Amino acid sequence: MKRRRRGRPSGPGRLDALGARVSAARAAAEARGETFYQGPSRVHLASFPPKERWDDWVELSSRAWPAADERHYMLVPTTCFNCESACGLLAYVDRQTGQVRKFEGNPEHPGSRGRNCAKGPATINQVTDPDRILYPMRRSGPRGSGQWERVSWDEALDALAARIRAAISQDRRNEIMVHIGRPGEDGYTERVLASWGVDGHNSHTNVCSSGGRTGFQFWMGIDRPSPDHANAKVIYLISAHLESGHYFNPHAQRITQARANGAKVIVLDTRLSNTASQADYWLSPQPGSEAAINLAIANHLIQAGRYDREFVRQWWNWADYLAACHPGRPQTFEQFEEVLAGLYAEFTFSCAAAESGIDAAVLAEVADVVAGAGSRFACHSWRSAAAGNLGGWQVSRTLFLISALLGAVATEGGTFPNAWNKFVPRPIHVPPHPPVWQDLSWPLEYPLAQNEMSFLLPHFLAEGRGRLDTYFIRVYNPVWTNPDGLSWMEVLTDEDKVGCFVALTPTWSESAYFADYVLPMGHGPERHDTHSYEQYNGQWIGFRQPVLRAARERLGEQITDSRQVNPGEVWEENEFWIELSWRIDPDGSLGIRQYHESRARPGEKLTVDEYYGWMFEHSVPGLPERAAAEGLTPLQWMRRYGAFEIISQNGGLHTQPVPASELEDVAVTAAGRVYSTAAGAAGPNIVPVGAPEPDPDGRRAVGVQVDGQVLRGFPTPSGRLEFWSSTLAAWGWPEHALPGYIKSHVHPDRLAPDQVVLLSTFRLPTQIHTRSANAKWLDELAHTNPVWIHPADAARFGIAATGDLVRVETEIGYFVAKAWITEGIRPGVVACSHHMGRWRLEPGPRAAGAMAATVGLHRGPGGWRMQRRAPVRPYVSADPDTQRFWWSDTGVHQNLTFPVHPDPISGMHCWHQAVRVRPADPGDRHGDIAVDTDAAREVYRQWLTLTHPAGQVSPDGTRRPRWLMRPLKPAPAAFRLPDGAGQASPGGASPSGASPSGASPGGASPAGQRAEPDR
Ligand code: SF4
Repeated sequence: MKRRRRGRPSGPGRLDALGARVSAARAAAEARGETFYQGPSRVHLASFPPKERWDDWVELSSRAWPAADERHYMLVPTTCFNCESACGLLAYVDRQTGQVRKFEGNPEHPGSRGRNCAKGPATINQVTDPDRILYPMRRSGPRGSGQWERVSWDEALDALAARIRAAISQDRRNEIMVHIGRPGEDGYTERVLASWGVDGHNSHTNVCSSGGRTGFQFWMGIDRPSPDHANAKVIYLISAHLESGHYFNPHAQRITQARANGAKVIVLDTRLSNTASQADYWLSPQPGSEAAINLAIANHLIQAGRYDREFVRQWWNWADYLAACHPGRPQTFEQFEEVLAGLYAEFTFSCAAAESGIDAAVLAEVADVVAGAGSRFACHSWRSAAAGNLGGWQVSRTLFLISALLGAVATEGGTFPNAWNKFVPRPIHVPPHPPVWQDLSWPLEYPLAQNEMSFLLPHFLAEGRGRLDTYFIRVYNPVWTNPDGLSWMEVLTDEDKVGCFVALTPTWSESAYFADYVLPMGHGPERHDTHSYEQYNGQWIGFRQPVLRAARERLGEQITDSRQVNPGEVWEENEFWIELSWRIDPDGSLGIRQYHESRARPGEKLTVDEYYGWMFEHSVPGLPERAAAEGLTPLQWMRRYGAFEIISQNGGLHTQPVPASELEDVAVTAAGRVYSTAAGAAGPNIVPVGAPEPDPDGRRAVGVQVDGQVLRGFPTPSGRLEFWSSTLAAWGWPEHALPGYIKSHVHPDRLAPDQVVLLSTFRLPTQIHTRSANAKWLDELAHTNPVWIHPADAARFGIAATGDLVRVETEIGYFVAKAWITEGIRPGVVACSHHMGRWRLEPGPRAAGAMAATVGLHRGPGGWRMQRRAPVRPYVSADPDTQRFWWSDTGVHQNLTFPVHPDPISGMHCWHQAVRVRPADPGDRHGDIAVDTDAAREVYRQWLTLTHPAGQVSPDGTRRPRWLMRPLKPAPAAFRLPDGAGQASPGGASPSGASPSGASPGGASPAGQRAEPDR
């Protein structure tokens, strides 16, 4: 906040004055025999309070300046919840007031190593936010009327438990759903749902990262890359990793480390991001052409013979490919190389230049740099292009083709499968897989979808495919985050479709406004969670905890419930789920309660202390010994330090020999896949596609034969890296079984002459979806989202100057925003960040006072209209800073105007839009929205026609290949196709005919543009 400063000395004189006062205060304290501020532990920029002093850390109060007022703090670790990186934080708990003064980085955290982005310290804003929800609330008028009454937790819990108990008892299990935005934890919620026997987990992943994940999964059987950036020679990013990419702060600091050691950074981003501005090579491609660039680089490696021949021979499933697609050739590696040489020959630099708009000579230079990296080639592709385009999953699949050609897989400076650098401990109770299948999340049309088809839920409910009795959202704001938010609003206000809508949330949101119960949950420093993420070549586990609980326990108090330390009646989810589960099954007759009972005290409720204490004691290798060395229990150790590194320098697990003890009862396929014939054997749960008569319990692959040795391999059907995907071939997509190029739905061929591409996906470094709007510091830094327009386009559209209002027209409506004329965007493309345009309706809570404009929302003959009634203004609250808000422009909610674009293979929502941009009409106002939800339904139906439903293509009578990852995997029997769904005849889905530039699944012109069907 801007504050006026009066009467203070400045410059060197001011520092001298401060130094003199500090010296005097130190001398006085020492004379009294007291501790004074001891200064940082080290003398360089990585200076942090040493852990030995965390019980009583002394600093001078900045507020008391110029007086030298000592404040004594207890430093308590927790984990940031403001993005997926889960960086370590240290809460500075004032020993006098018992309140948190600030958050800084935890130097003991192996992933973040004490560093944070702006959003980490801003956690204090969320904790002290005057607009946060402090008590359970129940709707007291019609849904969406903005009328609420405070209720007790008991009332809310009993009402919800009764509904859920009835649904389970009446075999309506699929009417219970928990929809998760940011999970921020590893498996707790899935475990709760499994204990209820419901397939009710839903996620946000298909509006986020499914496209990126799918390409990696078809290669490795693992859906995320884990680049060893710090040791790389070349870093290739199709994302903005220095400011906002996946695990960005832990990655960004390691990329910076590599650059200091001479690594080259190549960034593909149509927009001049902060990351692009720091790159050695910034390529600004036509959106959707990224895979063509990757293939041109791959082709260069192949044609020039600059690939790791031995790695390809040993680890690619080339033998499967030859057998399926070239059975007439001798089945030798040399023959495969001959085929390989022709597969990508069309992807010359000239071809990629024509698609991408980037000069062929530049592409050739970049390819040469990539080739020089050898096995020290680290890459990442996340959201960005993979989330923007039809077929975007091929962006990450073609990117990993480069890694796989270079042999830069699980090497120092290369890219690992994420699961090797992540550790998920076994919990105290493990319920069985649910016996049911949720068609509302996993519909038959999308058998290969990487994650739940979450963003289609409103359309499925509107079509009558099912209903929800009790629908929870958690760290999730579907009306605002998803495309087509007004279709969400239509079903969420329909009590026939959603019987009871519950928002578990710390803050009000566009979605919580329509809920029946709004239940206050804790922010990052007010709840327990564990997590482990792939941020370097190693494994760590982090512990989020309510910091005031840990602080008070250090002082000898006993805390049994997070509500005893949290503000108001704010709770944590773990304790909430345990209590709710007990009330659903009070006598244990439903078989649920057993998974929420104490082991130490049978018949009593499980506590979070026992849950995490058991986990740290029994499931985290090395932690008990480390804790014992300091005379602590593992739980005490984690409460004190917050994170534990289990292993570093993991190396390539695929090359580890399988011990002889695991090879006693095994069968070996012709291609060398080794799997146990005993159910329950160790190893990943893989049933090779095409294997004879899969075991209903799932045979478990234990390894793969490589040059006569059985090695661990990869968790794919073949056990090798799958250059050719037997799964895509067998499930109706043989033309996309190889890494290839799919023309986007916004390919120039499909745009009308007056259309341009809208990039709508990019994050801002200081904002994060819904919850950062309740952090005033972040709002001051970034609070609007103008439309980036190249000067040439601005001239073409008749837009005179930055700040002019423009109308951006989509397939289903339009939004009105301000123009930002900049050369930081490619001509023919405009861009707008999705983090802005928060809104609130009246009457109702203020929501996010620094960021939510008050709007009017009405439905008329042409559809919905939203218009701003009042901008953000200063207001009086418990926080004086709310009177200092100097901004009123909070941007526009563009996502409302986007229809759904589900990719027929990955299921990813393809975010990019074909739009028309023109000067706003005279009556238009900034933030105006118009949306026709009938048109949105029509676009949904068009994209649905692109799919190959499981009933038509399943080769084995299942809904989905069992080996593919899936949250909360149901029991094997639930995978069977339902009666009447149909089944492909054996061999009906021919695996032949694979082509890297195969026909596009987008040929049916899903966006209603001018392309002709070619499928
Ligand atoms: S990168 Fe920033 S927002 Fe994300 S976890 Fe780390 S400190 Fe928090």
